[in-house]
Amino acid sequence: MSRRVPPPPPTLQQQRHSSSANAHYSLPPPPFPDTTPAQSVSFAKNELSFIKNPPEEISIECPICLSVMLTSSSLTSCCGHHFCNSCISRVKGACPHCREKSYQTMPDKDRIRIIQGLKVACSNNEAGCSWEGDLKDLCSHIDRGTREGECQFETVQCHYPQCGVKKIRRELDDHESNECPYRPHKCQYCGVSYPQAVSSEHYESCIKYPIACPNGCELILPREDLSSHLLTCSLQPVDCELQWAGCTVRPLRKDVRQHLVDNLHEHFSLLAVACGVLKEENKELRNEINKLNISEI
Ligand SMILES: [Zn+2]
Ligand SMILES: [Zn+2]
Ligand SMILES: [Zn+2]
Ligand SMILES: [Zn+2]
Ligand SMILES: [Zn+2]
Ligand SMILES: [Zn+2]
Ligand SMILES: [Zn+2]
Ligand SMILES: [Zn+2]
Repeated sequence: MSRRVPPPPPTLQQQRHSSSANAHYSLPPPPFPDTTPAQSVSFAKNELSFIKNPPEEISIECPICLSVMLTSSSLTSCCGHHFCNSCISRVKGACPHCREKSYQTMPDKDRIRIIQGLKVACSNNEAGCSWEGDLKDLCSHIDRGTREGECQFETVQCHYPQCGVKKIRRELDDHESNECPYRPHKCQYCGVSYPQAVSSEHYESCIKYPIACPNGCELILPREDLSSHLLTCSLQPVDCELQWAGCTVRPLRKDVRQHLVDNLHEHFSLLAVACGVLKEENKELRNEINKLNISEI
């Protein structure tokens, strides 16, 4: 019979995670999603770190939504102020700035070009990012909200959706491969993958998990093989051969012979009583048969 190395007991770390984790688990998520929803990212002026402050006479914020006009800018004919296209096109009636009732708006491509070309440092420069570049490239550098992205100092969510942990990108790799309770853990016994957080629960039911025979015969075997082992385990309690006659002792399989030897007198008494009962029943049956035979004639 083959011996297996006993499994490592689940660590405290695993137990703590499994008891605090949510009871419903879906399968581990696939590797990093290949598409992320396109986001229209906007910046407020005070979120930006200008390397050189923009000229004061050039307004770069839309007065309505207070975002930097990065992709659209429309000039009003009344007072010459700039607004995002979408903001000024929603305005009904007077100019929101000078209250002039009739005015025109025209797209100002030069203004967009100036704004896009402003030199900025990464908004995460205080966290440690040394990126500098054109404002138009800041969005793709930061890639807000996506797990993968250039800026390693942007705070984003852990790849495993149930986790919810947020860290800067360069710390998430370590979290996802070594810490995250939702990282996939492949069972070393059955090969199925589970979130790390439920691996100790999995061991409770894994059919390949090595367990010791509960009879203490010192055999360690996969859980699925236990029931067939108990049919031959020498330490399994079994019925006495005279159970039918009323012996209620259940000797261990290895002790069955010895039980018969040790209990000759008790077994003899049980057999005597059982034989008496059988003899009586036999007599009654014979009478029944005779009655039937007589009535058939
Ligand atoms: Zn706006
Ligand atoms: Zn105006
Ligand atoms: Zn004005
Ligand atoms: Zn950065
Ligand atoms: Zn995580
Ligand atoms: Zn398993
Ligand atoms: Zn056994
Ligand atoms: Zn017996």
